[in-house]
Amino acid sequence: MKDELSRREVISGVGVVATAGILSQFLATEAHAQPKEPGVFAHQLPPLSYAEDALEPVIDKETVKIHHGKHFDGYIKGLNAALEKLEKARIEGNFDNIKALSRDLAFNGSGVVLHWIYFSTIGPKAGGAPSGKLADAIKRDFGSFETFWKQFATASKDVEASGWGVLAWEPFSKRLVIMQAEKHQNLTSWGAMPLMVCDVWEHAYYLKYQNRRAEYVDAFANIIDWKKVEERFERYSK
Ligand code: MN
Repeated sequence: MKDELSRREVISGVGVVATAGILSQFLATEAHAQPKEPGVFAHQLPPLSYAEDALEPVIDKETVKIHHGKHFDGYIKGLNAALEKLEKARIEGNFDNIKALSRDLAFNGSGVVLHWIYFSTIGPKAGGAPSGKLADAIKRDFGSFETFWKQFATASKDVEASGWGVLAWEPFSKRLVIMQAEKHQNLTSWGAMPLMVCDVWEHAYYLKYQNRRAEYVDAFANIIDWKKVEERFERYSK
């Protein structure tokens, strides 16, 4: 299991340099979502693998800076706080606030996962269409890439209020699905593993696009790094 070995090496801080290319960036990013060690809940903001202005003209530098450095970091802090409060509740044997804590865990935990996938699946010199096994699966499950994109883009544009368009692998039926998540955690499907996501909270696009969400979603097609989506698909769909 070379893949698992690499992940452990990355988590322990060894082998990051030794593992070359896109894969090392992908694994290094993924590893940030793991607790540092069992019982120690300190998720950390994964660094961007590109410059803040690298996504222009699709997404402007200021939006990337605030979205990654403030919003994403806010969900990391929120998740860490929820996990700490849950640990405290277990130690004290007091679960009076379990409803609020469970909500905080779902909201911030889902926010972390979706932002981590968002920032690690977009990049400069991207766009186009996937190839390999992912391309085959998209054709099988949606008919064609064009039909897939039309459904994904429309789902993203039509999210009610704040949320996400999500391409996910659904392991029980072994098929790809497109979901329309509200907030971060609503309208999701149990067990589905997100592969590629489009953030349609206003903080993701409002500085440049104002109320023109559809324009942002159409432009988003040009920054999807399908190689990274393919890597995630191949890991999850084994
Ligand atoms: Mn966001």
